[in-house]
Amino acid sequence: MRYSAFKILKEALTGNRGWKPVWRHPEPNPEYDIIIVGGGGHGLATAYYLAKRFGLTNVAVLEKGWLGSGNIGRNTTIIRSNYLLEGNQPFYELSLKLWEGLEQDFNYNAMVSQRGIMNLIHSDAQRDAFVRRGNAMRLSGADAVILDRDGIREKCPFLDFDNARFPIQGAIWQPRGGTVRHDAVAWGYARGADERGVDIIQNCEVTGFQIENGVCHGVETSKGPIRAKKIAVCVAGSSSRVMEKAGMRLPIESHVLQAFVSEGLKPVIPGVITFGAGHFYVSQSNKGGLVFGGDIDGYNSYAQRGNLPVVEDVCEGGMAIMPMIGRARLLRMWGGIMDMSMDGSPFIDKTGIDGLYFNGGWCYGGFKATPASGFCYAHLLATGAPHPVAQHYRLDRFLRGAAIDEKGSGAQPNLH
Ligand SMILES: Cc1cc2nc3c(=O)[nH]c(=O)nc-3n(C[C@H](O)[C@H](O)[C@H](O)COP(=O)(O)OP(=O)(O)OC[C@H]3O[C@@H](n4cnc5c(N)ncnc54)[C@H](O)[C@@H]3O)c2cc1C
Repeated sequence: MRYSAFKILKEALTGNRGWKPVWRHPEPNPEYDIIIVGGGGHGLATAYYLAKRFGLTNVAVLEKGWLGSGNIGRNTTIIRSNYLLEGNQPFYELSLKLWEGLEQDFNYNAMVSQRGIMNLIHSDAQRDAFVRRGNAMRLSGADAVILDRDGIREKCPFLDFDNARFPIQGAIWQPRGGTVRHDAVAWGYARGADERGVDIIQNCEVTGFQIENGVCHGVETSKGPIRAKKIAVCVAGSSSRVMEKAGMRLPIESHVLQAFVSEGLKPVIPGVITFGAGHFYVSQSNKGGLVFGGDIDGYNSYAQRGNLPVVEDVCEGGMAIMPMIGRARLLRMWGGIMDMSMDGSPFIDKTGIDGLYFNGGWCYGGFKATPASGFCYAHLLATGAPHPVAQHYRLDRFLRGAAIDEKGSGAQPNLH
């Protein structure tokens, strides 16, 4: 079904009886060319680009729960490409460009809203680091502006500029950053993949891999064994648990990351704001709720809920830059499992087992990466070679001493 203004009008006048399910619910075939394990944002985007760019449609996405039950439906929806290092910047810039054309591409309203992201500066050393990052971004074709206090005041007059501990000295501003409605991204990619013939199979947990003589021929699932020429794992927070079933240990730890939403307020936050002297970030949803978060919980966990010390830490960060947040009532909070890599950067690579591929280690910045991750993973699966912008995301980079130690990708467990 194509969506259009005419279709909406017609359905409104005829009792909304003509809408069809957005994707099918097929039973799995005994065999596919490619199986994607994990129906989160990255798995669905991979299936979509495999079908759309490479015409590969004998593909199944196996999801143990329902679409959107993982981090794709739990994140705080921020997109940006404000990275410093060569291994990362072109990848995240490709992702931002894909976001910019995504709704037209898959004909689905994902509410891509480029209202800008502002990282606050609280010290001279931080200004130097942010100016350097801004210069690197501009050199690689991204947008970055350094704002002084007056420039920030124009956009966010409510900030506490003269906080005794964390005075605001300036900010780096990426106008093309912003937010996207996260679950609509999963639905849009699912719909686009399904209409091209990809089987999306929910409630189908992968419980093992069929590996013989170093070659992976298929998976064991809660719906029985399924064979495939290529198996592409893409399970984010469950990466280490799933790859353990193939006998692999990964340089990844799982941690909880929490998110918070306040009651609906009149429009006040123009884009995304991040605190530079601690861990706090905030934006405002289209319904008016302040959407905010901060650091990961400091212990390893596979639980989708967090603990109170981080709640306190996040609230302290919020109060330090915008004390008015203390008057807003919290409506809800939740957690998601983060696949934290040891250098803060992801992996999109073949494994040492023939036919088995791995995508993960997104830390808490994988939502913005969704389009490029799917695009580059599909490229690797279809051509056998890494996409040029993802060529550094190799599984052996720690062995080679080629870690991509990127502070811009968020908190790293190795720095805690
Ligand atoms: C609170 C929070 C805030 C965040 N904020 C941001 C943000 O603002 N910006 C940003 O860029 N990123 C953010 N992130 C990170 C981002 O959400 C993740 O990095 C990204 O969504 C991970 O990729 P995914 O969508 O494929 O993961 P998921 O949606 O988690 O997909 C993985 C899927 O694999 C499935 N699975 C697991 N095991 C199996 C199995 N054995 N068999 C079959 N299926 C399996 C899971 O059920 C899940 O659906 C945030 C995350 C959280 C939790």
